[in-house]
Amino acid sequence: MPALEAHEIYRFFHVGDDETAALRGVSLRLSRGETVAVVGPSGSGKSTLLACLTGLDEPDGGYVEVAGTRLSRRPETERAGLRAAHFGILLQAGNLFPHLTVQQNIRLQMLLAGKPDRRRVGELLDSLGLLVRADAFPIELSGGETARAGLGVALAADPLILVADEPTAEIDRFAETQLIDHFETRRRKGLATLIATHSDALARHADRIVRLRDGKVDND
Ligand code: ADP
Repeated sequence: MPALEAHEIYRFFHVGDDETAALRGVSLRLSRGETVAVVGPSGSGKSTLLACLTGLDEPDGGYVEVAGTRLSRRPETERAGLRAAHFGILLQAGNLFPHLTVQQNIRLQMLLAGKPDRRRVGELLDSLGLLVRADAFPIELSGGETARAGLGVALAADPLILVADEPTAEIDRFAETQLIDHFETRRRKGLATLIATHSDALARHADRIVRLRDGKVDND
């Protein structure tokens, strides 16, 4: 059973009389232990696809299954439960609760996934070079530290599926190396990783590249 499977996903947006077909029948399969990079020009549908795959957005057509369980068109509470149990999500912004410290943000994610692990908090902070920033609030962090702390939250519960949207946008060289190291660790553990990226360096570390163009998978 694949970690994640999308069947013929469609997503349309309407602004006034204008319709944008952001996704036009995208199918995708992510196996356990596999790292897949989603690449494509700006506006090709990468963010929309990632939002549909994680249940943060609902496709207008098609459906998504996570670990064999239907995620699409389920009540929001059910989707949230599946998301917390199976996904680590790294978005371009908004990964941290501003009123919680770095350490508390990571702990909260573990609690939501039902996997509290005090020792892993320290190990994660250490691997991301954030031990000295454990008790800092998000507003006190630099751009690179914020990106690394977001990665810490996404990796907190050692999720079956890590989904990252342009993880290198704000990230420094150190964090990029850490991110690539984490891909390798996850591959060895049989965990799946899906990243939308513009970074050739990052895409080179993927097992497979899926190219999007105008909301479709480009097989050329
Ligand atoms: P990418 O991540 O590859 O840059 P997106 O998924 O953000 O692409 O966008 C795909 C298309 O859908 C674009 O034409 C974008 O303008 C449109 N789009 C995305 N989100 C919305 C929205 N909330 N409302 C209207 N149009 C949207």
